Amino acid sequence: MSRKKKSPLYRYWGYLLLAGAVVLLFARDVGPLAVSGAFALSFVWMLLAAPTWCGAKNRGEGYCRNNSSGLLGGCRQVRQHKWQRFKSLTRLDTLTTAARGWFTGAPQQIATCALAVSAIGVIAGLLK
Ligand SMILES: [Zn+2]
Repeated sequence: MSRKKKSPLYRYWGYLLLAGAVVLLFARDVGPLAVSGAFALSFVWMLLAAPTWCGAKNRGEGYCRNNSSGLLGGCRQVRQHKWQRFKSLTRLDTLTTAARGWFTGAPQQIATCALAVSAIGVIAGLLK
């Protein structure tokens, strides 16, 4: 028996959620809490689960391009990268390096933009 593959769309549900949240923002009969909640959920999804590259700084030149989950996570292949991403959030000089890592490639850039959109959406939802 062969198993059905999970749809690749499954990995991207956070983006669908974000799109849905934008629709909710312009819908009339939706309360501010529901809108902000949807944006907040996709914000967290971008940080923890969005399919991105690792983006940790390599010892030499460039940034790590292994697949990873979420802007905050590093790849599974190099354990040190997980710590690197985590530790970089606590220091300003390394934070800028980490932030640069967030722009290493298309999946990262999309996730970072979506992160910004959802952050704005949370506030916009509350002001609705
Ligand atoms: Zn890595």
